[in-house]
Amino acid sequence: MIGHGIHDLYNVQDAVADSDGLINVVLIPLAGVVVFPKMIAPLLIKREHDVAAISEAQANQATVLGVAQRDISSDKLEPGQLFSWGTEMALGRLMHMPEGGTSVLAQGRRRVEVVKFIQTEPYFRVKGRVLEEDYSPHREITALMRVTKNLFRRCVEFNPQLPEEAQVYAFNVNEPGWLADLVASTLNLLLNERQELLETCDPVERLRHVNTLLGRELEVLELEERIQTQVREEVDRNQREHYLREQMRVIQHELGEADIFQQELTDLRKRIDASTMPDDPRDKANKELARLMMLPPMTPEVGIIRTYLDWLLDLPWQDRPDDQQDLRHAANILDAEHYGLPKAKERILEHMAVRQLAPDKMRSPILCFVGPPGTGKTSLGKSIAKALGREFVRVSLGGVRDEAEIRGHRRTYIGAMPGRIIQTMRRAGTTNPVFMLDEIDKLGVDFRGDPAASLLEALDPEQNNAYSDHYLDVSYDLSRVFFITTANYLDTIPEALLDRMEVIEFPGYIEEEKLSIAKLFLIPRQLDQHGLADHGIRFEEEAIQIICREYTYEAGVRNLEREIAKICRKLARRVAEGRPTIKRVTPKSLGKYLGPPQFIPMLTEEEDEIGVATGLAWTEAGGDIMAIEVTMMPGKGSLMLTGQLGEVMQESAQAALSYTRSRAAQLAIDPEEFDRLDIHVHLPEGAIAKDGPSAGITLALALISALVQRKVRRDVAMTGEITLRGRVLPVGGVREKILAAHRAGVRTVLLPKRNEKDLTEIPKRVLKELTIILVKTMDEVLEQALLSEKDPE
Ligand code: ADP
Repeated sequence: MIGHGIHDLYNVQDAVADSDGLINVVLIPLAGVVVFPKMIAPLLIKREHDVAAISEAQANQATVLGVAQRDISSDKLEPGQLFSWGTEMALGRLMHMPEGGTSVLAQGRRRVEVVKFIQTEPYFRVKGRVLEEDYSPHREITALMRVTKNLFRRCVEFNPQLPEEAQVYAFNVNEPGWLADLVASTLNLLLNERQELLETCDPVERLRHVNTLLGRELEVLELEERIQTQVREEVDRNQREHYLREQMRVIQHELGEADIFQQELTDLRKRIDASTMPDDPRDKANKELARLMMLPPMTPEVGIIRTYLDWLLDLPWQDRPDDQQDLRHAANILDAEHYGLPKAKERILEHMAVRQLAPDKMRSPILCFVGPPGTGKTSLGKSIAKALGREFVRVSLGGVRDEAEIRGHRRTYIGAMPGRIIQTMRRAGTTNPVFMLDEIDKLGVDFRGDPAASLLEALDPEQNNAYSDHYLDVSYDLSRVFFITTANYLDTIPEALLDRMEVIEFPGYIEEEKLSIAKLFLIPRQLDQHGLADHGIRFEEEAIQIICREYTYEAGVRNLEREIAKICRKLARRVAEGRPTIKRVTPKSLGKYLGPPQFIPMLTEEEDEIGVATGLAWTEAGGDIMAIEVTMMPGKGSLMLTGQLGEVMQESAQAALSYTRSRAAQLAIDPEEFDRLDIHVHLPEGAIAKDGPSAGITLALALISALVQRKVRRDVAMTGEITLRGRVLPVGGVREKILAAHRAGVRTVLLPKRNEKDLTEIPKRVLKELTIILVKTMDEVLEQALLSEKDPE
């Protein structure tokens, strides 16, 4: 419905009232249309008679009255089916439509109320009363009109069906009734609402009514607009993304990257299909691959997923080379590569034997090799792998504090990686390697979790068939792995871990053993590695002995091997320079190759002294000897300790002091003396705090020596804990300590009586060269080690 009449379109006079004040006009029924005064609307005239009536009126230059039908469905029109108010209209030219019917453009003139029908056949003619519009200007009306115009302006803005000019027309209308009609004709209203507006005679009231309708319309329009904007934004975004993606595809295509990426995806697919993974990880891999395919190749996530898939695919899942089952062959390998170590070798062969008999029931044992460095733990592990025909891998746990290092980081972390166990399994490349975990006694524990706990899970045969690594996120079967852990000490290994392992001790070697190892293994190997195997070079036995004694000081043979390597390098250089080959390495030539001796067995040359006693300590490197020194000075009876002393050592010192006080009379010490002297105890380097108590008798001896001013025999070394009453209690690490004493050239060792059983572990040869005296009380210690003559000073 268009319509905004500023001026009259057609040159037709309004009907003139008769003497009764009514006009006499032809009535044209309108189907679904209400024409407002001054507004223009196209009409469709259906009835033939109406067309004829219009023609007649036009011939007379007369207006007609358009009245809306209440009901447009019925064919037969009766006066009662028409509303009683209509609009006097001027009509344009009749136009016959090709599809039938006649159309005509009408412009409203005035509101007319039908008073009576004076003709109904063949068309309607009525008498009607013209409504003369009237109002008196008022501020409220001006305001109302302004509001209406504003609302209307917004309506026009929102409604694309309304031409921009409509707003301009409205702006120029200065009568409330006219403005109401103008706006009403543009609004989307029901027929009844339109008719109601037509029948509202008071212009101001009509405008108010229109205003309400306008507000409603505006709300709907705004809502529509909002919805449309949302839809548009959504569409825009999708289009934008699509557009960018397309561009990226083209760029990548140009660069050849898309093809590479596609190729990679295909490769991954093939690798997953070809892999021997169990269902779980396979599902996972497929899922990740599906995600990968959805991503554009440049996103950072692509790298993360790809790395993850690589891990899954690179891990060994199933392949399992047949274990070597031949026991004799295995025994040969172990013997061929290692001297001695009967217990360890025996245990491996037992394991293999059981495996042969009950292959399925057999769980892999978890061995724990404990001993000082250089005693062959690692190299025996390698031999075991060789004997079993398996891969050998090793990982060090020294200093690991973070649980994530063992068990990995979740993939949500940037740069996340699997933990060391899974990393090492990938390195192994098979599911059943010999897996060595070094230094489990040096695991740390802190706020980042307890690495031992995750190790437990890996080592526990009950649950390690489904080991979980945070990064991997699928369980991994470790049950076929042959785990070997190594440690220098047992006491710092977490109890729960220790429970699961079978401990095999690697004691330090005595000199005789070292000589054999050097002759049979180290020297041939070093000569071979230095390309000297065929030069007929021989190390004299005495030379090796001197290397052991004067150039190394250790429980194992690591440094011995290093010194031998040093000599080999020098010899190889001579050969390379074309100088005559040296065939023999003699004691005399050692200085030339190795420089002056590093360790001189000093003890035997050491003088006996007051307040200095020789103790035996159990250290990281095996055993060691240490001198404990005590001095006195005038003071108030305080006790001071320096050097590497722990709390335990404090207690030992206190115990020693208390014992000495209680024996003051027998020892001929003036009891007053204790309060007049400050006592200073010093332990030189090397002695470790953990084994503190075993220094008890040594400390007491040095203390008493200082108090009674009698010298102590330096060639007597001792170990033992002391009680307040002077009893001597047993200690640990006896074998290591006695070997250390032997190495150091000590003649006599004082050992707690209750350690007698440990002597069975000491090589016969060592026992032959040492005098071992078993003591039960401190008195016996004094008897053996304290010299009788008083110092002349
Ligand atoms: P660990 O792991 O106990 O610190 P290694 O296994 O590294 O010690 O041993 C150090 C070196 O000593 C290796 O070259 C090893 O072959 C050699 N070795 C140690 N014990 C023996 C032995 N019983 N027989 C032959 N070689 C040995």
